[in-house]
Amino acid sequence: MALDADTLAWDKQDGLLPVVVQDADTRRVLMVGYMNREALQVTLDTGKVTFFSRSKQRLWTKGESSGHVLAMQAIEADCDRDTLLVQARPHGPTCHLGTTSCFPSAPGDVLGALQALIRTRDAERPPGSYTTKLFEAGIKRIAQKVGEEGLETALAAVAEEDGPLLGEAADLLYHLVVLLQARGLSLADALKVLEQRQR
Ligand code: AMP
Ligand code: ZN
Ligand code: ZN
Ligand code: ZN
Repeated sequence: MALDADTLAWDKQDGLLPVVVQDADTRRVLMVGYMNREALQVTLDTGKVTFFSRSKQRLWTKGESSGHVLAMQAIEADCDRDTLLVQARPHGPTCHLGTTSCFPSAPGDVLGALQALIRTRDAERPPGSYTTKLFEAGIKRIAQKVGEEGLETALAAVAEEDGPLLGEAADLLYHLVVLLQARGLSLADALKVLEQRQR
């Protein structure tokens, strides 16, 4: 559903809305800024998250000098439409101090971070990486690995020790994320299916 700018509460704060930017993959909060209507329009038109800088008193496309742009994936408003939540893929550290986020790290979503890493491996294919090797071997090989790791997980589950079971479960999750990525999908897509089943 498209965001209808006319229904947003621009009048509450001098035509500005606070904007929470979240990593589209890990859901980690990256930064907070402000948008006026024009900044929102530019963000929607260009796909690059653009704020209204209160200190510069002008539109500010994040990354305009550092190159660390935030590629917009989705925008939604909160319950009373006076705050925006932007999901983005950061091209580099979001904080100008060089860290991933402007906020201290939370005990993060490991799977989301893994998904992001695997997506980067797929795009960049660094030589020597096991993930690169899997992508180059193709979907059949990856599917076979998921099958193997699934079987190893099942066998470990009926044995006594926790350690090997956890190791195999981790192998299975990793290969499953690679499999989904190889099909252009993500763990988030599978989680959406799970979420719908809970309704
Ligand atoms: P950039 O938009 O990344 O090219 O950075 C340009 C300038 O914007 C920096 O020198 C900072 O003054 C400011 N800036 C960049 N990133 C942030 C951020 N996450 N929070 C606040 N200010 C920022
Ligand atoms: Zn609100
Ligand atoms: Zn910062
Ligand atoms: Zn294994």
